[in-house]
Amino acid sequence: MSKYINADELMAYLEREMNGDLKKMSNEAHFTLGLLLATEAADVEKVRHGKWIFDKNGYIACSCCDFRAYAEYKHIDFDHLNKYCPHCGAKMDGE
Ligand SMILES: [Zn+2]
Repeated sequence: MSKYINADELMAYLEREMNGDLKKMSNEAHFTLGLLLATEAADVEKVRHGKWIFDKNGYIACSCCDFRAYAEYKHIDFDHLNKYCPHCGAKMDGE
């Protein structure tokens, strides 16, 4: 699985670590940072993790957005429900 970084957070971190003076970085670090910043940005969004829960009215709802995805079931096998919330896109693999 690819790992994505937030370039803005990286720059802020480096500036904090270098007390605002990125010229203190080594030539290798400058080169690497230049490569990172020149790389085309991917269109990614942070993955939300949730789970199906019974809400206060007994409906099966998303723990992230409270979307009621299923009517009330007394004996439901949670392993067979959608793996993603159709409303907020949360991945239903726990919290
Ligand atoms: Zn949701």
